[in-house]
Amino acid sequence: MQKAYEVLRTVFGHTSFKGQQEEIITHICAGNHALVLMPTGGGKSLCYQIPALVRPGVAIVISPLIALMQDQVQSLRDLGVQAAFLNSTLSWHETQEVEQALRQGTIDLLYIAPERLTSPRTLELLKSLPIALFAIDEAHCVAQWGHDFRPEYLGLSMLAEHWPQVPRVALTATANAQTRQEIAHRLGLEDAAQFVASFDRPNIFYQMVEKKNTKEQLWQWIQAEHPGDSGIIYARSRARVEDLSHYLQQRGVTAVPYHAGLSTAQRARHQALFLETPGVVVVATIAFGMGIDKPDVRYVAHIDLPRSIEGYYQETGRAGRDGQPASAWLAYGLQDAIQLHRMVAESPTQGAFRQQQAQHINAMLGLCETVHCRRQRLLAYFDESAEPCGYCDNCLSPGRQWEGTVPAQMLLSAIYRLWREHGQHFGATHLIAILRGRRTERVIQFGHQHLSVFGVGAQYSASQWRDMARQMLAQQLLRVDSQGYGTFLLTEQSRAVLQGKQSVWFNQKRRPVQSQHGHANPRPLDPQRAQAVSSG
Ligand code: ADP
Ligand code: ZN
Repeated sequence: MQKAYEVLRTVFGHTSFKGQQEEIITHICAGNHALVLMPTGGGKSLCYQIPALVRPGVAIVISPLIALMQDQVQSLRDLGVQAAFLNSTLSWHETQEVEQALRQGTIDLLYIAPERLTSPRTLELLKSLPIALFAIDEAHCVAQWGHDFRPEYLGLSMLAEHWPQVPRVALTATANAQTRQEIAHRLGLEDAAQFVASFDRPNIFYQMVEKKNTKEQLWQWIQAEHPGDSGIIYARSRARVEDLSHYLQQRGVTAVPYHAGLSTAQRARHQALFLETPGVVVVATIAFGMGIDKPDVRYVAHIDLPRSIEGYYQETGRAGRDGQPASAWLAYGLQDAIQLHRMVAESPTQGAFRQQQAQHINAMLGLCETVHCRRQRLLAYFDESAEPCGYCDNCLSPGRQWEGTVPAQMLLSAIYRLWREHGQHFGATHLIAILRGRRTERVIQFGHQHLSVFGVGAQYSASQWRDMARQMLAQQLLRVDSQGYGTFLLTEQSRAVLQGKQSVWFNQKRRPVQSQHGHANPRPLDPQRAQAVSSG
């Protein structure tokens, strides 16, 4: 351990270990396997980087992000560590050089893509070398149950067969019991020690709002809570990313887009701007942020419903890594949930996997709709029990509920009748038109003005109906078809409601909740700087 301390101080420049680092490092240096679960910013890298330098031989780090390997290796080299990477971006000649260095034993840390590691050529090379350890970064990628499954990761099960004696360290910032179990199973780590840090990020304020006018809601929130702060905003599509970054630029925010449609050079420029200039906001599709170490991101916002709680938590975890107050803000709506279900239906996945994705969406929607503490619910998802935090929107402003069994029955019975009498399922818009008694073109075309449910729900506005439908979806009193039509179907639970055996409660709308962390140093917005950036 003396050696580990020395490396911590002299190589990485830190004076003490953080959290469970010391325990984990001692364990690995002694030649044991480990499964390490820590939230983003917890300090996972040192857990394998220090043993890599302490133990003889080369440490192999498996990472799914080719784009980031170069950065990671560069940072290590800057600290004087002998690090290299092997992936498809290297030329034949560069590959030869790395292989040569490996044979000479002059590399301590080798970053490698999983598909490269499992190639016969690499296996043969590694077999001839002393190996310090295998670190499997972003280990949740091996789990089909998880939100970020990568088929290339499946091949890693061979590590246990070929190198049973070499320590395997799996690390991830996101894994609930099911994902964790699958990681352990696939990597042969069933008997390995598990180090599970608390997933709580006490400095993050969580808030979730229903969509009305999303861009304006977001803009008002930024002005109220985070003017001039650095933030990341996630949106579902490139088009929405582009649209929102323009909108924010026009309002004086230094916002830059980040998505797969931009050139590599543009993306690199926007990322560098974000990392180096204070107050820059990146508007991105989900592809942005993994592996980026920027400690002072003050907020992460989602303008579309994320696909899973795991993904959401990983993304919001990029806020406030410095431990200072930070926010996670999310806007969600009925259309979001329907569209996500549609995307799952249209994806090439099959059977159980598809069902899991639908479950992930429902769990995420359930988190949005809960009236209880968000943090408690999030931590419960990661199998950690906690008291209500007193510091999320629901804790600060407990939502009220109202009994809505009658309107719920109206909607369910409309679905039921249309199916029984016409053999067809319909989406939200048409159902709401029927309930409100609107003679739309479609209603007339199908003759639905003659249904007994026509007009029975006229006292509720269309937006109130959408609200109820969304909450019924979250409560699983309804589901969306799995063929991608976006139509509503009944569930097991709908029957109890239709038969009057179960009552239905809805959350009342409420006004935006203010965080209580305030903002220590609000920076004024500077429209000119924003313009200069966006045109550059
Ligand atoms: P993770 O991979 O878990 O998200 P990192 O390994 O990137 O976390 O570490 C997060 C931050 O914490 C980094 O800025 C890192 O330099 C810092 N850090 C890690 N370990 C220590 C330590 N023992 N002392 C001080 N800072 C640390
Ligand atoms: Zn709370």
